[in-house]
Amino acid sequence: MKTLAEAFEHTLQDIYYAEMALTKALPKVAAAAGNAKLKQAVEHHLTETKEQVKILDKVFKSINKQPKGEKCDAIEGLIKEADGLMEEASGKALDAALLGAAQAVEHYEIARYGTLREWAKVLGHDEAHDLLGQILDMEKAANATLTGLAVTVVNEAASKKAA
Ligand code: ZN
Ligand code: FE
Ligand code: FE
Ligand code: FE
Repeated sequence: MKTLAEAFEHTLQDIYYAEMALTKALPKVAAAAGNAKLKQAVEHHLTETKEQVKILDKVFKSINKQPKGEKCDAIEGLIKEADGLMEEASGKALDAALLGAAQAVEHYEIARYGTLREWAKVLGHDEAHDLLGQILDMEKAANATLTGLAVTVVNEAASKKAA
């Protein structure tokens, strides 16, 4: 990787892989969530994630490249952590832990899309810049929804001793 154009393409493949991996991982998280609002938020974001894959297809097309994923070790690690929580935690504590794991994923995505969007801009890929900005906004909104759930219900419920 010697040019920013190559770094851009590589990172686009990385996040494409990550979004695909999330379309497989999020149903498990939704199923494991006990809190109805958390479950609903994860299911909603699964719908958005599938939409994001389609937007990324358009990003590849806009730079005349075939959509292609390349293994993203970071998302594999984050998903592995969430899988571990689902094995080890239970009850309301599992909800709080899963919510935290989901926020780690959103923060990862926010970092990636922020970088990609700005690289698109300096590379003169205006359409890609706009499309990546759309996804970035979805990730930020998803993170904000999760923060809202954490501070209004999930954390408090988890802090109470089981009866
Ligand atoms: Zn990579
Ligand atoms: Fe995403
Ligand atoms: Fe990655
Ligand atoms: Fe996301």
